[in-house]
Amino acid sequence: MTAPQAIVVGGGLAGIAAAVAVAKAGLDTLHLAPKGPPDRRTSALMMPSVEYLQSAGLVTEPAAIGQPLTQIRIIDATSRLVRAPETLFDSREAGLAAFAWNFPNIKLLESFEAARTGLSNLRTLELSVSGLERVADAWRLDLSDGSSVTAPFVVGSDGKKSMVRVAAGFRARENGFTEAALVCDLELGRPLGGASVEFHYPRGPFTLVPAGGTRANLVWIDDRDVLKAAQAEGPDGLRRIFSDKSQHLFGDIKLLTPAHMFLLSTLSVDEAGHDGIVLAGEAAHAFPPIGAQGLNLGLRDVADLSAVLAGTNLGAPRWAVKASEDYSHRRAADLGRTGVMVDTLFRSLLSELLPAQAMRAGGLWALKLSPQLRKQAFSVGMGVR
Ligand SMILES: Cc1cc2nc3c(=O)[nH]c(=O)nc-3n(C[C@H](O)[C@H](O)[C@H](O)COP(=O)(O)OP(=O)(O)OC[C@H]3O[C@@H](n4cnc5c(N)ncnc54)[C@H](O)[C@@H]3O)c2cc1C
Repeated sequence: MTAPQAIVVGGGLAGIAAAVAVAKAGLDTLHLAPKGPPDRRTSALMMPSVEYLQSAGLVTEPAAIGQPLTQIRIIDATSRLVRAPETLFDSREAGLAAFAWNFPNIKLLESFEAARTGLSNLRTLELSVSGLERVADAWRLDLSDGSSVTAPFVVGSDGKKSMVRVAAGFRARENGFTEAALVCDLELGRPLGGASVEFHYPRGPFTLVPAGGTRANLVWIDDRDVLKAAQAEGPDGLRRIFSDKSQHLFGDIKLLTPAHMFLLSTLSVDEAGHDGIVLAGEAAHAFPPIGAQGLNLGLRDVADLSAVLAGTNLGAPRWAVKASEDYSHRRAADLGRTGVMVDTLFRSLLSELLPAQAMRAGGLWALKLSPQLRKQAFSVGMGVR
């Protein structure tokens, strides 16, 4: 195998997007993407992310694979003393046709893979990395077939448990939650239109996201044991629970797919790059799926990686080290800001403390009453920089 200039590790959405970006920046690229189980999640991607996907050639026509989200409806379903008002955000208020698009991850993956196949300087191997070591000015990666490969620049996009992050000595902070997320596809008796509807319960939201027609994607966050008990009830029990949780607003509910559970945690790193190695996607940051930040942030990693490589002189000595430092610098503020925002939102929903309830209710009242505040909230949530 001839030595590539860059190796991208990980075949998830962040990994494929990164491999395409690195190759499009002109580097001879090797993508290590072992086949995994199908990704049953869906991703609400904010407009800046969708625009990036289109400009990078990763998605040609959003309407062919996804649904636009034009409204966000928040219903306080707690029985707390100080309850928040029902709040409706409408994209037209922000002067937008939609806030976001909701895509099945399987469809995104197909679309990203189609973009990858056309690039002659990008090779893909379905191999995983078992070891990584700094050798002179490059990184040597040991592969699952017993071979090894060396490159000056490496992108670790190998997910939350990233071996690249650990082996390259990045310090990470992780917090596990006792809550988990249950996801499945539903058929509703009444359509959601373009509205994502969030019922906020004390342990987390029960969210229905439009998936076209009368279909919806459910993301239900609750205590792990509560979700396990619900799963054990089987399809009929789940239908009953889902109807109760959605306050019987959407008529008869049918399950279109089995319910899958995802454990939740937060993860952040002090720096996203050093010594010619960078982290992208959940290798660098993980959040509970609240405020739809995870993949949006992963795509912002990739967009910044693309910009850094476009400005890198590949003929200069130590170009890979410089590119990794530039990337780390560029990502620092965004990673810090988004981490604080999502963590605060999550904790305020879980908290049983009256001051937090009052603040949250007060915050939603302020958003309900002030169009200007709502506009600012849109900008923060959509990652407008
Ligand atoms: C329930 C739920 C709902 C979500 N909803 C949203 C949403 O609406 N909007 C949003 O923006 N985000 C959302 N997210 C977050 C989003 O799904 C993730 O941020 C995103 O999928 C992570 O992609 P990734 O490529 O970084 O990681 P992964 O998808 O975990 O991919 C990592 C890849 O690395 C590979 N790998 C691992 N180890 C190795 C190795 N040693 N060698 C080679 N390869 C390796 C794996 O096989 C895998 O292919 C949600 C998450 C959950 C749990």
